[in-house]
Amino acid sequence: MASVFGHGMVAYTISRVSSEKVSKGLVVLAMISAILPDIDVLAFKFGIPYEHMFGHRGFTHSILFAVVWAIGLSLLFGKKTKLLYAIVLFLSTISHGILDAMTSGGRGVGFFIPFVNERYFFSFRGIKVSPIGIDKFFSKWGAEVILSELKYIVIPCIIILISFYLKRSYFK
Ligand SMILES: [Zn+2]
Repeated sequence: MASVFGHGMVAYTISRVSSEKVSKGLVVLAMISAILPDIDVLAFKFGIPYEHMFGHRGFTHSILFAVVWAIGLSLLFGKKTKLLYAIVLFLSTISHGILDAMTSGGRGVGFFIPFVNERYFFSFRGIKVSPIGIDKFFSKWGAEVILSELKYIVIPCIIILISFYLKRSYFK
């Protein structure tokens, strides 16, 4: 994974630029959706191996999971903006796997599970893989993760957000 901060930042940006009238509820759901896929690290505790369909970076990182999750939440919470909810939540959820596929470590992302149990990386893998567990995060490794995420996630997101606010303020 990238860190929870990196995943959260991307979802925050996606939801903020999706619509001028985006609700706080949708922003929060988007951030939860972008962090949620790593719930599969619990698989290690149950003895499910990494390469298993339900192993880490498996089903919860797949396109199918993102579709089902986004539609489910949009039906539950979307009210009159179900389509906006579905799109923002799909993009936020799948952004997790996309970031993971650009990280320097682990086994790749099972985008097409359950149809194809293959794991994928993109050719760009500049994001330093984040340690699992908070204790390891406060280390040299953690510092390198923060630096790589600043460069490839946080700063680009801030530029997008500022551009969006400027456009909204000056071009009404
Ligand atoms: Zn992940």
